[in-house]
Amino acid sequence: MRILIKNCNLISMSEKRKKYEEAIDVLIDNGKIKKIDKNLNQQNCDKVIDATNKVVMPGLINTHTHIPMSIFRDTLDGYGLQEWLNDKIWPMEDKLNEGDIYYASLLSCIEMIKSGTTCFNDQYFMTDSIIKATLETGLRIHCTRTLMDINGDGEEKFKELEELINKYAKYNDNVKINVGIHSLYTCTKQCVEKAVELAKKYNLYIHMHFAENSKELEDIKELHNTNAPIDLLQEYFKDMDLVLAHCVKIKPEEMNKLKNLNLSVEHCPVSNLKLGCGIANIKDFIENGINVSIGTDGQGSGNNLDMFSSMAYTALLQKGINEDARLLPAYDVIKMATVNGAKALKMDDKIGSIEVGKQADLIVIDLETEMTEPINDIFSNIIYNVKANNVVTTIVNGRIVMEDREIKGINEKDIYKKCTSIIKRLA
Ligand SMILES: [Zn+2]
Repeated sequence: MRILIKNCNLISMSEKRKKYEEAIDVLIDNGKIKKIDKNLNQQNCDKVIDATNKVVMPGLINTHTHIPMSIFRDTLDGYGLQEWLNDKIWPMEDKLNEGDIYYASLLSCIEMIKSGTTCFNDQYFMTDSIIKATLETGLRIHCTRTLMDINGDGEEKFKELEELINKYAKYNDNVKINVGIHSLYTCTKQCVEKAVELAKKYNLYIHMHFAENSKELEDIKELHNTNAPIDLLQEYFKDMDLVLAHCVKIKPEEMNKLKNLNLSVEHCPVSNLKLGCGIANIKDFIENGINVSIGTDGQGSGNNLDMFSSMAYTALLQKGINEDARLLPAYDVIKMATVNGAKALKMDDKIGSIEVGKQADLIVIDLETEMTEPINDIFSNIIYNVKANNVVTTIVNGRIVMEDREIKGINEKDIYKKCTSIIKRLA
């Protein structure tokens, strides 16, 4: 399939191009970006998209979520993290079946496509059903079978994960499996060591929650018999590629302990705020040369999968907590949600920016609206005023998965009904 996007305003996020270019055409051929130039010939194209007055930018990359948790939206109010998991979420999760996971995942895929996300990193279980839903909608997925063993049953989870790894080993770039450790407060030393072994065996990165709140650190101290949970990172994960969600409770003086790790931090501001965890000081990570990307977390704690909202929170919070309006310019925040996300997922040679040869994951945004006109600074406009519904068209791997806000091949209302029936049954 050959698609020509005509006359767009391009934010490519490529270091090789200007930050912003007007009246540009982007040619997509067989899933990849073939040409970027002015006035490209539209002959032999299967599809031409007129993007006059619209912005084209890379699809957003959500580096930490749990997409089947769409059905747990708005269940959190009044709970703390551990209470919410123990008393509410884990008992309900025990009742979920593959069909539930599939429909809940489809709902999330709809949400992501409509809010400009083209790739996401998921951590959950019944992963095959998550992948099935994702592939049907056309999105790109990184995922795992979450490992934990404090409630027993660790062996079974390892078996499931290894099966997944083998099943999708030779799959295309739309599905990538990683080793997901839930956290150090739910995994014993033996479980962590086994997970690291598995990651080494298949050369995969490790995706784990870490330092989300103070209680977690206390629990880690007890389970791993240590006074300094931060030291466990070096002890357990030396030389491993590590992708850590949250990192809220890492102190400035502990930053030097992170420097020698191959580490990416997945900042999830909305979830951290709602769970009353505190706010990670991203400034410290960036100053120490650590890659920081953005995640929404699942809808149970993060409300939604809207990366535009998470980008705005990221920028506003860092300015606020550091009392410095110059911190995190808008362009840098867009970079966190695109280029840095690709880096975290070890796919920066393939996605994260619009460049010839890269895979065509991009979105078209309409800025001719009451909240985005007039445009003084395009990057600030995107961070502070663009909302999910400004995204009109979403393309993943050269496939148009949404055009003019219509998702191809899915009856959205049917999915809403299915998800409502699931929560009725669980209740
Ligand atoms: Zn999470």
